[in-house]
Amino acid sequence: MRYDVAVLGLGAVGASAAWRAAERGCSVIGFEQFTPAHARGSSHGGSRIFRKTLFEGIEYGALVDRAELLWGRLERESGAALFRRTGGVCIGAEDGELVRDAVRCAAAGGVEVELLDADALAAQYPQFAVAAGDIGVLEPGAGVLDPEGCIRAALELASVAGADLRFETTVTALDHDDDGVRIWVGAESFTARRAIVATGAWFTDLLPELPLRVQRSASVWFAGEDRSAFGPDRFPTFVWESDGLDGWGIPDVDGRGVKVGAGPSAPKPWLDHASANDYPIGPADTDPPEDFVRRALPGLTPKAAAAVACMNSKSPDGDFVIGTPRSAPSLVLTGGFSGHGFKHASAVGDIAVDLATDGTSEIALTRFSPDRFSEAPSRGRAGAGGSTSAADWLGRLRRRR
Ligand SMILES: Cc1cc2nc3c(=O)[nH]c(=O)nc-3n(C[C@H](O)[C@H](O)[C@H](O)COP(=O)(O)OP(=O)(O)OC[C@H]3O[C@@H](n4cnc5c(N)ncnc54)[C@H](O)[C@@H]3O)c2cc1C
Repeated sequence: MRYDVAVLGLGAVGASAAWRAAERGCSVIGFEQFTPAHARGSSHGGSRIFRKTLFEGIEYGALVDRAELLWGRLERESGAALFRRTGGVCIGAEDGELVRDAVRCAAAGGVEVELLDADALAAQYPQFAVAAGDIGVLEPGAGVLDPEGCIRAALELASVAGADLRFETTVTALDHDDDGVRIWVGAESFTARRAIVATGAWFTDLLPELPLRVQRSASVWFAGEDRSAFGPDRFPTFVWESDGLDGWGIPDVDGRGVKVGAGPSAPKPWLDHASANDYPIGPADTDPPEDFVRRALPGLTPKAAAAVACMNSKSPDGDFVIGTPRSAPSLVLTGGFSGHGFKHASAVGDIAVDLATDGTSEIALTRFSPDRFSEAPSRGRAGAGGSTSAADWLGRLRRRR
């Protein structure tokens, strides 16, 4: 049988793509090397921030708008509780990059936000030890998604809509030409008109030409004496970047404690391959968030109560990859979702289906084009380093066909 759409990798993006494709009437086959909603990739740990103050750039606004609609639809159709509204705040110096970009993107996207000066922020959220010059950009509609719940719900709906989902099945190779794809699982092969590649941190196993790299990250939980002060009714999600102090956090939504991560100033190890992330949590993972908690959240004990390793796929310029490269018209590539991709995953899956079925999407995708690495040098933003080795990836992809 030749399928309309094959989905490679059934994590956050792949599960969404399988759901959207099957619900739109495509014949779908999906492959996942591990079990559903496993804890070995980028989408585990019980919680992910959903916010529309997208300081990453206004081009992300259209993604998150579609994502919001789709997460709501996934909740309704599956009957699962997937989103908890908590409010979310970006904290930083008034003239700092984070606050400036958050305000600009909220204004561009028509997102409801409230500006709180240091006194107002301290009055509303005494859990934060804010400095005199800090301000907060509060987004009341922000909240927390349950990542494993979202993935399970999307897989369930995909399956109900007829998708053929294969777990503990690793795609080992991919052949493609203008007409379609052949997907290899060892000696067995499957054909499809289009393939959506959503293999996350393993992306370069199948497509080494794309300059995506893997970075270790960790989810670290902290406990406090007054647990209710850090629960979802009283404590928001936050991203904090002020002078010498940066981190992010999620209220205690599941009794495990407040999840806190180190910000961009803390070095995170690059990995040669996703499989290299398989080593125990150590001080390099827990010291930076512990230091952040000590200075920013005095109501929490600055000692990790629990921690799990995670990892992110990163592009050279830090932006997502969503698109069909000119050289590979039967593939839709998705990847490089860094530490902020989950909130968008339902939309990315849906857009990938737009591209697989119609060849185009209503969402502007130029910023996310996989062809950009062959056309322009790195724009110098935080990401996986220079793009020198990437400059000819497109040509090499062409030669593989
Ligand atoms: C600690 C941490 C905190 C984060 N916090 C947030 C947050 O608060 N908000 C937010 O929006 N984002 C957050 N992110 C980022 C977000 O979680 C990721 O961007 C997103 O989950 C990536 O989804 P994905 O589908 O690309 O990867 P994954 O969900 O990892 O999916 C890739 C899948 O492909 C499978 N696969 C790979 N190769 C093959 C193969 N050859 N054959 C078959 N299957 C294969 C893998 O097993 C995996 O299941 C965070 C990330 C981390 C690590």
